[in-house]
Amino acid sequence: MKISKAIFLKSAGQFKDCKRTDMPEYAFIGRSNVGKSSLINMLCNNNKLAKTSATPGKTQLINFFVINENWHLVDLPGYGYAKKSKALRDTFSALIIDYCTKRENLTCLFVLIDSRLPLQQIDLEFMQWCGEKNIPFCIIYTKADKNSKSELTKNINTIEKELLKHWEELPNTFVTSSEKGLGKEDILEFIDHTNKQKQSEI
Ligand code: GDP
Repeated sequence: MKISKAIFLKSAGQFKDCKRTDMPEYAFIGRSNVGKSSLINMLCNNNKLAKTSATPGKTQLINFFVINENWHLVDLPGYGYAKKSKALRDTFSALIIDYCTKRENLTCLFVLIDSRLPLQQIDLEFMQWCGEKNIPFCIIYTKADKNSKSELTKNINTIEKELLKHWEELPNTFVTSSEKGLGKEDILEFIDHTNKQKQSEI
């Protein structure tokens, strides 16, 4: 699949502002600075679509885009700047929690992980929470160009070993670089395939 049309639909500051739709929705989330905006722009061939690196602490918004008049791409707020607290609601905003648990047409959540770092506690917590809530998700490793191939493989293996301490199997994973366009086809193929599967079920 190629993205030939990507149109900004709206921003929502609260879950009740998210417009109901029948279109399948694919949402992107991760720690601030993980490379989410760059990835969305790479997927959509548009460097200005998602705004890069909003200042932490600013109003959190969910941004909706209509892709090829067929599905929604959703840019969720970054997490990870919250105050130290044990409460999930303080770490992951009500907006993120409400969207992930209540959005009926959410087809897959892409959780972005920096391929250069060891597994971060907050990412693990978030993915474990997704598992508990039965939220379908995939992992996207970002910034793959920043390491050598061998370092990249080593890092990802270490992350996956850590994940397998908590789960029996891994979700789908994608290795990406927005700089190099790596992983774009695989992600878009996955979305296309999932959309077709959903359509055939109707
Ligand atoms: P966001 O806060 O998650 O939306 O992250 P951004 O997309 O704004 O990226 C944060 C920083 O990482 C920026 O300086 C980007 O240029 C850089 N970055 C993002 N993706 C890549 C990538 O694939 N490769 C490299 N080398 N840098 C990246």
